[in-house]
Amino acid sequence: MKRGTHPATAMLGHGHAPGDASGSLKPPLYPTSTFVFPNAAEGKRCFELAYGLRPPTPGEAPGMVYSRLSNPGLELLEERLALLDRTASGLSFASGMAAISTVFLTFLRPGDVLVHSRPLYGGTDHVVTSLLDEFDVARVELSPGMDEAEIEARVVAAGGRLGLAFLETPANPTNALFNIEMVSRVAHAHDAPLAVDNTFLGPVWQSPAALGADLVVYSATKFLGGHSDLIAGVVTGSEDLVGEVAATRAFLGTMSDPWTAWLLTRSLETLHLRMERQADNARRLVEAIGGHRSIRRLSYLGLLRSGTPEGDLFTRQCRGPGSMISVWFADEGAAYRFLDALEVVRLAVSLGSTESLAQHPASMTHAGCDPEARERLDVTDGLVRISVGIEDYADLHGDVLAALDRV
Ligand code: PLP
Repeated sequence: MKRGTHPATAMLGHGHAPGDASGSLKPPLYPTSTFVFPNAAEGKRCFELAYGLRPPTPGEAPGMVYSRLSNPGLELLEERLALLDRTASGLSFASGMAAISTVFLTFLRPGDVLVHSRPLYGGTDHVVTSLLDEFDVARVELSPGMDEAEIEARVVAAGGRLGLAFLETPANPTNALFNIEMVSRVAHAHDAPLAVDNTFLGPVWQSPAALGADLVVYSATKFLGGHSDLIAGVVTGSEDLVGEVAATRAFLGTMSDPWTAWLLTRSLETLHLRMERQADNARRLVEAIGGHRSIRRLSYLGLLRSGTPEGDLFTRQCRGPGSMISVWFADEGAAYRFLDALEVVRLAVSLGSTESLAQHPASMTHAGCDPEARERLDVTDGLVRISVGIEDYADLHGDVLAALDRV
């Protein structure tokens, strides 16, 4: 691509040369499991690079072998994902959980310590608190207000080698913020990488790599895909660390398939457009419903004020408040009455899509989390999570206010 350096422009053509594809303006799809070698020596050369048996010579292209290892459509998508996060490399996965678990399996070994924020998306919470525990990985749980000295003291007290730090910020489902720069300093002092789940704000509103994250992780099912029609995951970061994750992915087989990668590549063309419209709708909606009598409390990043610790962190870390709203009602009954009265906003889990979605974390996405932790982390029975879509604002406004009146 010759002109246009902004990622929004790059998403429209970067990495695709129409001359290599019969002039096709759009990149082709390669639905193939395997690739034909022109001769046996070339097959040997491709495997040497794919399996890391020797480093590439300067300028040597890896070559296509088998779609668990590489596919032209995935490579194009991955180049664009890296551009969005302003990192050197990117990888696509079969789901957000595939991306997260591949990162865990790359950097954690029995006896290691994992530092992690909480709350976490329910699936990640399960892997961290149950599955990794069975593999003898100890964990240090961070809460939003903890300072650097306290985190450091807890890491030292945990005893083992710090294998990985993992933050989900803003946190699903409460919008709690965690300090990326601070946790990266602690992780790096122990020679451990920091991975940040950037699903909630996406590359449009937050660039964790610029704040010290070594790896950025996404459920691409959400804003990146954006149409509730695919499941995918992403990891971006430095060439070295992404290379390590790629080696694990090649053997676990957690990559995305060519068709999903193609759909995701298409979705990225409208990423900025969608996320800006979603944020605009969310900001207007919060202004309209903020004082409603049925709402006990509301969390939206756009409400944070500078001069408060969270507000100042938001200003340093994020370029915009995104479009996720957490609303606390009196109890489960009130939350359910609200959800059941919605018509334009759909009652469904997931987020970041063109259509607005609302759900009840305590009994849905976070139903598997330990009830004591849920209560402590503010994931109470009265909480409803709303993901604001791209609908006409007046329709959204009318629907949500009518539902609030019926609580
Ligand atoms: N991370 C976050 C913040 C999520 O919200 C989700 C899913 O809701 C995931 C990870 C897991 O992604 P997936 O459902 O694509 O596996």
